[in-house]
Amino acid sequence: MYEGVVQDLIDELGRLPGVGPKSAQRIAFHVLQADPADVRRLAQVLTEVKARVRFCEVCGNVAEEERCRVCRDPRRDTTVICVVEESKDVVAIERTREFRGRYHVLGGAISPMEGVGPDDLRVKELLGRLSDGEVTEIIIATDPNLEGEATATYLARLLHPLGLRVTRLASGLPVGGDLEYADEVTLGRAFVGRRSLDA
Ligand SMILES: [Zn+2]
Repeated sequence: MYEGVVQDLIDELGRLPGVGPKSAQRIAFHVLQADPADVRRLAQVLTEVKARVRFCEVCGNVAEEERCRVCRDPRRDTTVICVVEESKDVVAIERTREFRGRYHVLGGAISPMEGVGPDDLRVKELLGRLSDGEVTEIIIATDPNLEGEATATYLARLLHPLGLRVTRLASGLPVGGDLEYADEVTLGRAFVGRRSLDA
């Protein structure tokens, strides 16, 4: 539709999640009209984030060092692990200030529709963290939608034989929604009222 590099920009933007062709075009023209310094800053931060940010070797959360801030914090309770789908869920739960344990970021949820199975998630790494017997409770905080529930059920079956307390966030979270969109009060309450998951 457009010539050369303008179309390249629209194509690249269109590959981002949640950006349709119309939005891609709108953002592209915003960039074309923007101050060169602003665009340089955006380009720089995109490059920098890929160069500097990696994933925590323990929990899979985003980190700027080998371990993320939560895993480096000696005041965190090492007997409880909260399992979430994405790093953005860690941010949402941290905002509630209800949880003092550590996290495990799966990197997604089980979704047969999208061809995502347990082997595509950081499940093996989670089991590895349980081998020394220090962890006594696993809180499953996957999203309250189909994929999140399927993942919670799978994990509960896997973890129960290990003799751990396995809990799931209490209802009250909007069903079908994303954890990150829940407000702090609702999410905090869901934490306090978490219930045991029977396999
Ligand atoms: Zn970590």
